[in-house]
Amino acid sequence: MMEVIESVKEMQRRAEALRLAGHTLSLVPTMGFLHEGHLELMRVAKKHSDILIISIFVNPTQFGPTEDFQQYPRDPEGDLKKAGEVGVDIVFMPTAGQMYPPGSQTKVRVEKVTQHLCGLSRPGHFEGVTTVVAKLFNITKPHIAVFGQKDYQQLTVISRMVMDLDMDIEIIGVPTVREPDGLAMSSRNSYLTPEQRRSALCLKESLELAEKMVMEGERNCAVVKQAIEALIRSRPFTRIDYVSLCHPVTLEEVDAFGEETLLALAVKVGETRLIDNTLIRRPGK
Ligand code: AMP
Repeated sequence: MMEVIESVKEMQRRAEALRLAGHTLSLVPTMGFLHEGHLELMRVAKKHSDILIISIFVNPTQFGPTEDFQQYPRDPEGDLKKAGEVGVDIVFMPTAGQMYPPGSQTKVRVEKVTQHLCGLSRPGHFEGVTTVVAKLFNITKPHIAVFGQKDYQQLTVISRMVMDLDMDIEIIGVPTVREPDGLAMSSRNSYLTPEQRRSALCLKESLELAEKMVMEGERNCAVVKQAIEALIRSRPFTRIDYVSLCHPVTLEEVDAFGEETLLALAVKVGETRLIDNTLIRRPGK
């Protein structure tokens, strides 16, 4: 039977007992409103462990003051049903009061890789993420934690935090799960009207366009970036937040395509901010 735990202390006791009994624990942190992308992370986590813990917590500290914390979609009943079907062992579902009791004042900040891409347009976002993920690690005590490559920068930032703070946890990244037409799955897709949903395809089309241009010999990042920006601007309701061609480890912008270059995009479609990315490999000589 799947257990649902709301209390931090109880979760810690349960995790400790499972560890002492010799189990391997995995954690998939989520903000709920689960979709096939989340479920894929859970399947991967399950393969690497014998106790699968997921957390469902819409973390207020990673949302900016003008962002969608209040509107963020929530469906705890549907989430528990889906988690049960995938074979989750424990769902950790704390309240905000449990996670941030009065007086709490400690933050985890990763310095450099947070200063690009989403770090520029969402000040404080990654500090919210690393702080809550560090707390979730201390609460659920996993051996393994699984994150989606859809949030490439988040995966990079968390991997860096784990290394820098000597957290004894293996981080696994899972490729982006997409809708049949290529749109990256996201809880935020539920905000889109049918017309906006059509415009949102420009993200994955941009990734494909860049891959094609590099495959055909283009090596100049500015040229590819311009083509992508023109493509996105040609679609109704879109506003570009960033189009970045950058180093896949440091996330620093690059001018020419190297062996591997990350293309990362953030685009507002109506009021909905969507992201997508792909690693572009330069074809062999
Ligand atoms: P969220 O609930 O949006 O915070 O996401 C929880 C986890 O699911 C994060 O590690 C995300 O990167 C991952 N995730 C979200 N969407 C997808 C997707 N379409 N494919 C793969 N992983 C995803």
